[in-house]
Formats: sequence, structure tokens, C-alpha cells
Amino acid sequence: MTAVERIHQLREQLHRYNYAYYIEDKHLISDFEFDQLLKELQALEAQYPELYDPNSPSMRVGGSIIKNFQTVTHAERMYSLDNTYSPEELGDWLKRIEKINGAPITSFTCELKFDGASINMTYVNGELQKAVTRGDGSQGDDVTANVKTIQNVPLKLSGDFPPEFDIRGEIILPLAGFEALNKKRLAAGEEPYRNPRNTASGSLKLQDSSETARRPLECFFYALSGDLNYTTHWESLSKARSWGFTVPKSMEQLSTLEELLDYINRWGEQRASLPFEIDGVVIKVNSIEEQETLGFTAKSPRWAISYKYKAEQVSTRLNSVSYQVGRTGAITPVANLEPVQLSGTIVKRASLHNADQIEKLNLRLGDYVYVEKGGEIIPKIMGFDPARRGDLANVIHYITNCPDCDAPLQRIEGEAQHYCTNDAFCPTQLIGKIQHFVGRKAMDIDGIGAETIALLFHQGLVRNIADLYRLQKEQLLPLERMAEKSVDNLLAGIAASKAQPFHKVLFGLGIRHVGETVAKRLAQYFGSMDQLIQVNAEALLAVDDIGEKIVESLQVYFMLPENVQMIEDMTAFGLSFEAEKTIQSSTVFEGQIIVVSGVFAQKSRNELKQMIEDNGGKVGSSISSKTTFVLAGESMGPSKKDKANQLGIPMISETAFYEML
Ligand code: AMP
Ligand code: ZN
Repeated sequence: MTAVERIHQLREQLHRYNYAYYIEDKHLISDFEFDQLLKELQALEAQYPELYDPNSPSMRVGGSIIKNFQTVTHAERMYSLDNTYSPEELGDWLKRIEKINGAPITSFTCELKFDGASINMTYVNGELQKAVTRGDGSQGDDVTANVKTIQNVPLKLSGDFPPEFDIRGEIILPLAGFEALNKKRLAAGEEPYRNPRNTASGSLKLQDSSETARRPLECFFYALSGDLNYTTHWESLSKARSWGFTVPKSMEQLSTLEELLDYINRWGEQRASLPFEIDGVVIKVNSIEEQETLGFTAKSPRWAISYKYKAEQVSTRLNSVSYQVGRTGAITPVANLEPVQLSGTIVKRASLHNADQIEKLNLRLGDYVYVEKGGEIIPKIMGFDPARRGDLANVIHYITNCPDCDAPLQRIEGEAQHYCTNDAFCPTQLIGKIQHFVGRKAMDIDGIGAETIALLFHQGLVRNIADLYRLQKEQLLPLERMAEKSVDNLLAGIAASKAQPFHKVLFGLGIRHVGETVAKRLAQYFGSMDQLIQVNAEALLAVDDIGEKIVESLQVYFMLPENVQMIEDMTAFGLSFEAEKTIQSSTVFEGQIIVVSGVFAQKSRNELKQMIEDNGGKVGSSISSKTTFVLAGESMGPSKKDKANQLGIPMISETAFYEML
């Protein structure tokens, strides 16, 4: 067999194994063998780049880097769903639509409402061509490269699929995968992700698709669209399943309100033991003809409705309260609970937020408390069960001293949190500040995790972030688990971080209340650290989004000589404390009239208008046939959108606009 033939054979085999695994539930080969074949394919493909196939099974490993996702307009709008919360509301919905339909409706499909990120995929001649996020419903981002890495998304279909169609589904991150991911993040000193849903949608927007490939995402498909000749929703999804799409087996075809309620109750009970999160079920009118009669409201189809479950609650014993110290010294009380099963995970701890919250809940140690899981990873305590009260004498006395360094705690006027006042010496604060500095969103220093930092701190090698830049190879080599290679990596990472822009350094300093966005704002307005240190409160307050709390926190920070010294040291080490000039001028937009509409992520509308003028363009006030293009942000008004569409005026996204420059 020639290499070329082998490539084709491998591709076909791997597609087949995937189909067998995901659709037929048959394990034809082991994971190991599968990986071997995949590796063989990758090696051959590397030798024969001319045989490139955008839907080769090797695409699952990812590898492409996408800086800006292209905005794509959906052929058919991606709607929301109306919600119901009780059997009565569901009954009302049924009556309403039967009235519009003019006849009883006797066939429905019931599906689980997966809590993830919705996606619209286009298949042409049985190959995945495009995968686009829901976005604002009418336009989303092209995330095809990332979606191709999801194991159960078919890249090639089999059977009697139509030549062209769209299919919609929900991309989810199963609970086990979510927890594994967070464990890794915590070990690396990074903030854990909040919930599987946000993590799933964040995973689709990663720039490096091989990073997406490492996340155990899955896609469940729930609707076909396009000009297709099926008489029922059930039939179309059964077909889709036969072509290779994972249409969940939980989908059922039912007829009466009683049956619908029974489905809702059954899944309400099983919900907690599912390996992924659902937030309800979706009920859809089965007949496509009836769907057409019912049509849509402005927001959602009339022929479908979701039934949402209430957040799940359990009661368990409050054993004790412990206190965590953050990098800014903020103290967070944490309830230690008798471990209990809740929404598929075992809960042992719940946040109590602050002293006021404890007081408000009026808790005693030994109480049985109601715990609820909302969107957060750490569950919340909602109250106690009066029938199972702990000893009333067991009042929770809020600590007065830092659990780490024993310094007295302080509460700033108007803030709910207590703080450890020992900024300069509290080990947890000091280590936390360095961990924050090296984190992904700040200096993004590779090769240095949370444990390494703790080790360096306890060895007396670093006390603050400036010390990182003093580290020498000879100091590190004798340390445990520091092979030459990891030392080199660590030092290279630190050296490379000197190239990070000012706003990242500023955010990295970890000044209380100066988050990513505020740091960017400050860097942009004041241009340099020198300026920022010198300006008065009034000038600071004049900046958008900068309030009293931030100003006060900045003043406190710059008042401390050790902070000023540290900044001086870091300047000497070559870190940037000056923003790069962002004003660029050109004639790119010469002779063009551009209308700016909507809300933008990176710059304000006025800044964008300025950029247009700086680059030779004119800013138009309303859309007309003279408009060259509309710079369209989020939530641009529908009437403007219609107008632009009518006149055939292109709508350019914020990212595409920056690219034009
Ligand atoms: P909502 O965002 O609450 O208005 O609900 C609409 C969203 O539910 C859709 O955009 C889908 O992402 C999601 N969804 C999850 N499961 C299903 C399903 N089985 N059928 C339809 N939509 C679903
Ligand atoms: Zn302390």
C-alpha cells in the first residue's frame, strides 16, 4: 500500500471507529490503539501536506491559532426559549398554543435542557464546514477550528444526509472534566473556573485550538434547520443520529400533559446523578407543520418551551467555620459541612462571604443548614432548619486576628470584608501576591506554579515580586524538584515577562480594587507609573469607571515606601512602567463614512470615533446609502440592523475593525 493510500485508509478507519463509539456505543478498539493510528496518520500527513483535509480525524488534536474570530450572520436566527416553572404554567402554555393551532396538539418531544454553549454547525456534502456560536442570536463567532477538536462532533457523516443543512446543539463540559480542570488550575495557583457552562463557552473562544482539544467537551444535538422535508422534529433528529450526531437517548416522544409532567418529574429526580448539568427540560411541538402554524415571538418559538428546575437544595450539618486569607489580606469565612451529595458533586464547604452574612443567617455551630448550588462552584448557605438547631450557645465568634500571621484584623468603613493589616509580612498575603503576579491574566509567567512560589518564599529567596527578577540559577538548582531544565524554564519565563505591557504589570502589582479593566484604563489615561503616582484624586476620579474606593486604594499603595522601592527596583530590572503609544494615524479610511453603533468591548464609542478620524475617515450619524460600513458592537438596535441589511451596508465587528488598522 502506498503512503497516500494508507492516509486515506487511516482517515476512513478513524472516522468509522468514532461513529461506532459515539453512535453505536461499540468499542471496536482500545484508546491506546486509536491513539497509535491517529499518531501514524499525523506523521504521514506531515509528510504529505498536499493531502490536507480540513476534516481529517487529525483535526481533533487542534493546533491552529486564531487571534480574532470572524463574525458570521446566522442563516436562521438562534432564538431563546420561554420558561415555565410549574405544572400550571405548562398547562397554560399548552392551552395557549392549542388555541392558536385551532386543534389539539397530541405529539411532543421532550429533551433535556443542557446547560452549556449553543452552537450552529453547517454541513456541506457530509463535511463539517462551519461552527458558529449563538452570539446575540443573529450573529456569532466562527469557532470551527475549536469545535473540530470535540471528540463526538462528526467531521464526516455517513448515510443519507442532505447535501446541505445546519444543525444546532449544546456544547457542554461534563462535571468530572470540569472538576479535573479546576484541580489543575488550583495547583497552578490560578483562579478556579466558576461553573461548567461558562467554562464550556470560554473553551470555544480559546485562541489555541490544541488547548480546546485538551478539554473534555461534548456536543449534544437538538435541532436541524434548513430546507428539509421531515414531517416531525422526532424524525429529523432520528435521522441526524443515523448520520453520526449524538442525539441524546433521553429524548422522548410523548402525547399528553400528564406524560410531559411525568417526564419532567423523572428527570428532576435523576438530574442530580447526571454526569453533566441540566437546568430543565425542553418541550417541543413535534409536527413541523404545527410548528409553522405557531411561529415565533420576537424572542422565541411559540412551539417550544422550557421547564426550569428550581436550584437544588440539601440540608447538612455545619461542623465548623474556617477563615481564608486572600492576597489582598481579605478574609473569607468558609463553612465546613458534613459532606453531602448535591447536583452531582460532593459538597464539603460553602462560602459564608463575610461577618455580616454570618450574622444575618444567625447560624450556630451544629445547625443543619440548607445548601444550594447556583452558578458558583462554591455553594451557598441559604438558612438553617429550625427543627434541627445546634446548641444555641455555640455562637460563631468572628475572628479578630489573622489565622496566618495573627495580626489584628481591620474592617474598612463601608466594606463588608475584614482585612489582615499585616500587608508587609503576612506570609499568605505575600505568597498570594506573587502568585497573582505570575498568573495568566497578569504577567503570564510559564514554568512557575503556586507550589514553586511557596517553596521559593519559604526558602527566603523571594519576598515580593521584584525578587523574582533577582533569582539566580545557582540559588535554584539545590532546591528539591528543581532539575536544570525546570530552572532554565523558570528563569526564561521570568526574563520573558519583562516584555509585558504596562497595564499587565500594573494589574500584576495586585493593588486592591485594581482589576484587569481598571489597570487598562489607568494605563491608557495616565500613560506611565510616574504620572499615576503623581496625579491627584480629582484627576483619577475624572476617569470613567474609577471611583473613590479605587482612588483610596491607590493612594494607600503609593504611600508605602516599600511599594515605591519595589517599583523602582522593577523599573531597574527592565519591566515596563510606561504604556506604548496607541495613537496611530493613517489614511486607511480616507473618503469613507463610518457609523458607530452598539456597545464595544475594548474601547469606548468616543475612542472609536477618534480612531476613525485619526485614520482619515468621517463619522456618520445615521445609516444611509452613503455609509461605507457600520462599526457594529454588541446590542446594536434591531431597526439599525434592518436598515443596514436593506441598504446592503456591511457590518464590521470591533475586532475586524482593529484588523483593518
Ligand atoms: P435560554 O438561553 O434559556 O433562552 O434557552 C435557550 C437555549 O437553551 C438555547 O440557545 C440552547 O443553547 C439551550 N438548549 C439546551 N438544550 C436544548 C434543547 N434540548 N433544545 C433547545 N435548546 C436547548
Ligand atoms: Zn495575616
